[in-house]
Order: sequence, then C-alpha cells, then structure tokens
Amino acid sequence: MTSIAATTAEHDEAIEEVALTDGFHLLIDALKLNGVETIYGVPGIPITDLGRMMQEEGMRVLSFRHEQNAGNAAAIAGFLTKKPGVCLTVSAPGFLNGLTALAHANTNCWPMILISGSSEREVVDLMQGDYEEMDQLAIAKPLCKAAYRILHAQDIGIGVARAIRAAVSGRPGGVYLDIPGNLLGQVMDEVEGQKSLFEVIDPAPAQRPSSESIDRALEVIKGAKRPLIILGKGAAYAQADEAVRAFVETSGIPYLPMSMAKGLLPDTHPLSAGPARSLVLKESDVVVMVGARLNWLLSHGKGKQWGEPHSTKFVQIDIEPKEMDSNVEIVAPVVGDIFSCLTALTDAMGDGWKKPPTDWTEAVNAKKNANIERMAPTLRNNSSPMNYAAALGSLKRVIAERPDAILVNEGANTLDFARSIIDMYKPRKRLDVGTWGVMGVGMGSAIAAAVETGHPVLAVEGDSAFGFSGMEIETICRYKLPVCVVVFNNNGIYRGTDQNRSGGEDPAPTVFVENARYDMMMEAFGGVGVHVSNPDELYRSVTDAMDSGKPTLINAAIDPAAGKESGNIGSLNPQSVVKKK
Ligand code: ADP
Ligand code: MG
Repeated sequence: MTSIAATTAEHDEAIEEVALTDGFHLLIDALKLNGVETIYGVPGIPITDLGRMMQEEGMRVLSFRHEQNAGNAAAIAGFLTKKPGVCLTVSAPGFLNGLTALAHANTNCWPMILISGSSEREVVDLMQGDYEEMDQLAIAKPLCKAAYRILHAQDIGIGVARAIRAAVSGRPGGVYLDIPGNLLGQVMDEVEGQKSLFEVIDPAPAQRPSSESIDRALEVIKGAKRPLIILGKGAAYAQADEAVRAFVETSGIPYLPMSMAKGLLPDTHPLSAGPARSLVLKESDVVVMVGARLNWLLSHGKGKQWGEPHSTKFVQIDIEPKEMDSNVEIVAPVVGDIFSCLTALTDAMGDGWKKPPTDWTEAVNAKKNANIERMAPTLRNNSSPMNYAAALGSLKRVIAERPDAILVNEGANTLDFARSIIDMYKPRKRLDVGTWGVMGVGMGSAIAAAVETGHPVLAVEGDSAFGFSGMEIETICRYKLPVCVVVFNNNGIYRGTDQNRSGGEDPAPTVFVENARYDMMMEAFGGVGVHVSNPDELYRSVTDAMDSGKPTLINAAIDPAAGKESGNIGSLNPQSVVKKK
C-alpha cells in the first residue's frame, strides 16, 4: 500500500486504470460463487465491516446475541441443506464461543464452516500480548475435521474451496477457517483476484459401494428370521428419501428411526417399529444400520438392551469406513453414500425377494399397537397442573395438523417425552440435541430452520434448556421469524421441587425462580407472550401462533413434581457410595 501512495503523478494515472479489489470482496465473492448465501454470526473486531459488506453484496446476514447460538444455527443449516452452514465470529472469545458449536457439528457429522477473524499473526506467534491474542488455528484443529488459515489475498479462492470440500465430502463435518484481520485489507488486482476464485466441482462426490459388499449384506439379510432396520440422522441428512422408502418397503423389514430420522418415513407407517423399540432391539437377529452409529444412544450395540447373551448380527451402511466395527463386529460393512448403497441393495433384492417371516412382523405390530393404546388416555388428560404427556398430547395434534412445520426440541424430560409422543410425518422436520445430547441448541436451531426452509417452527423447550439460548428471542423478533417457542416450565432442572440438603437459604442447584414468566421476555421485544396452564389452552395458543406466524413464546406451566432425574438417561449419573449420617 505504501508503495502505491509513494508513486509519482505519472504512475498514479497508470494505477488508476487498474481496478483493485481486496480481501473483503474476494472472500465474499468466493463464498457466493460456492452457493453460500446466508451467514450466521456476531459482529465485532475485525469482522464488523465484513458483515456489512456481505449484506451489501446480497448475502443474508443474521446477527445473533451470542456466537454459540449463531454456530448452532450454522450447524443445523448444514444438516438441513447438505451445504456448509457458515458462522462468522470475532477473535479469541468469540471464536471460542463459536468453537463449541463447530465441535457439535463435527460430532453430529454436519457440514459447517466457522470463519473467525484473528489478531496479528506476528504478534500472536511471539506471544506479545495482542488484542484478543490466541493461536486459534492450533486450538481449533483437534476439535474439527479440518482447519485452515489464509494469509494472502491470492489464496482466498483456494482456502474457501478447501473449506467447502472438507466440510461436505465423505463424512461431513466442521471446518475452521482462520482469517487474520489484515488479510481483509490486502489489495490485489481485480482481474487477477477474480481469476483466483472458482466454484468447487462436485464437492461431495457419490461414493458407490462395492458389489461384493452388497452381495454379502443381502446374504445376511436373507438369512434373518427377525430383521430390523435402524435409520439414523445420516440417512435424513443424505436427502435420499425415496431410496430410503423403497428399501424399507421392498424389504418389508420393520424399521426404527433414531431421533432426528423420525419422519424420514411417517411415524404412522405400517413398518414403523418406534413404539415397540425395546422389543425390536432385544429380539432382532439381524440389524441393518442406515446412517446411524452404534454409540451410547444404542447402548453400543451390546448388553441387555440387545437381548444378550443372544447375539445380533449387524449390517452397516455408512460413508465412513472407520465407523465399521467401532463397538461390535459388523458382519456386512457397506461403505458408500446412503443413496448409492440403498439403491444397489433394493435393485439386488429384485422381484423374487422374500419378506420377513410374518410371525415377526405380527409380533412387532402387536406390541406397537398395545403401547399406542396404553399411552392414548394419558395424552388426552386435560387437568391442571399439566404433566408432560398431557401437554405433549396437545402438541402432537398440532404437528399432525401441520406436518410441514419444523419441530425443535431440547430438555431432559421435555425431550424424552416429546420424542416418543410427537409423531413426525416428513423428513428433516425434527431437530434436537443430537449425538451429545447437548442443551442450548434450541434458539439457534429454530432460527436457522425458519431462515433455511421458510416453514413455521415450533420449539418445545424445557425451562432449563431454554435458558442457554433464550436471549435469541430478540433475534427471532428482530428478523420477524415464524417461530413459536413453548417453554415447559416446571421451575427447574428435571424437577422444581428439590430442597437444599444443607438446610441453608440458597435454593437447591437444580431449582429456578418459581413460576417465572418467560412469556414476558418475548413481550419485551415486541413478540407475543402467552401463559397457559392446561392442555386445551396450550393447543389453542400454539395453533394461533402458527396461524399468525408471529414470534410467540408460550409459558406452559408444568407440574413441578412431574419430571424424572435426567429424563431417560438417569442411569448415566454416577452414584456416591458414601451415605450421609
Ligand atoms: P443417529 O444419532 O441418528 O444414530 P449418527 O449421527 O450417529 O446418527 O450417525 C450418522 C452416520 O451417518 C455417521 O456415521 C455418518 O458417517 C453417516 N453419514 C452421513 N452422511 C452420510 C451419507 N450421505 N451417506 C452415508 N452415510 C452418511
Ligand atoms: Mg424444567
């Protein structure tokens, strides 16, 4: 830059004819060229102007109140669209806030790019105490799939291309892109600059399975007496919905959807084994895993839940070869993308395919129908204070009437009950806490769901879960998003009835302010706030909110004694062996 300023008048004239560009514009153009249209972030040094210019250049820039929520929005945008969701943050603390969400995206196998501004390289590397000094690249590396830093304007095209390909190819994941503040101001010849940018060709190539692996898998499935298919969120992510349906229906095998795979086929489908979960896990002899992992959510594929000592044979379809044998032996690994694998399997079944023995499918159906019948009366109970089942009975009706709405769900009991009670009818309509079972993804997910799909969103939140991202209701109001938040308010974490065991004045660690009015928070930002205390009121107010499309928060008073410690996963709590005297 100094050399440009120091030239003679003659040179100045020559230079004026050369159009210049800079790091800001190259980064924006590179992202746009690769189909990135939406940015989730929080402005600040050194990326404040970048956000402004992105908006000026036609990108949608959504400013959040905290980076973690912006990151959670980007993560779920990746899941919903199969393209990397992009989160933009400031340096050090903002970067760290965003990093939690990047690690969450990575753990869930969703494509996301965290772009963070960083402080001056030379100063950071000599640890001379720069403003927000931190070696962000080194810190991000172990927590994501790939991490890159761009130092020169002429490398922006390559840097963005690498980030995009790394995020979406193979097993999708989180990518960190480090942008030192002074990169943005670097100047370059405009024509040269444009030449350095390109659109990534075939960023997530199809990965076809070997024919041997298909034959092997079919042999195992053919030999099954009590087969089961488990659909995971990888299958939902793949957007191979017709291939999934064809595989399930042609095979005639009952299927169990994992939480975020609910709705891939409607939960009311005759082959759904959702309400007979315990039975099918225990009794099945062959299980076909489709984009699902045998991690803690499935008891690692072994133990009592799986009917051990009887052994289950596993067939697994996954794009990631290393996933095979992660917890138990996979007798038929099928490595490839969901669409290619399922299409090959369905084709190979052919016309002569024999459906599973009817004594198995009838046993599954009998159990399923018995469980549905047993549950029905508790869903219709209109008493006050509400328990979980009764409140969720209302919301089950809402989703049945609006199958296109997106359901966001987090909490402990609020999550566990909603997952089993609320039927889903369409793919990628249920967004929840994912592989970590993390709290705090609610408002980020709700915002991205509304922005990316244009469909109305119903966010069903435990009062504790809501607290992690609750300030984003201002964001929801600011962007006028069609989001209805229902807070299941039972005055605390798990329950609102715990006592301080020391007898002191402080409330117990799991207890919140009694009868808090979360609805009034929404009113503070110009949204609609409603307080309800029975299931009929809840149904009516949610219906009104969904009809109006106005940002709404419904404070639903739940019996403080209704919840169970840690919901369905209380067994994960360590127990003390020391008895208090
Ligand atoms: P769930 O929690 O629903 O069981 P997981 O997140 O544990 O789902 O598993 C998803 C799996 O799907 C991961 O192992 C991932 O590698 C795989 N996956 C993601 N996308 C694809 C795809 N397009 N084709 C095949 N497998 C995929
Ligand atoms: Mg609670």
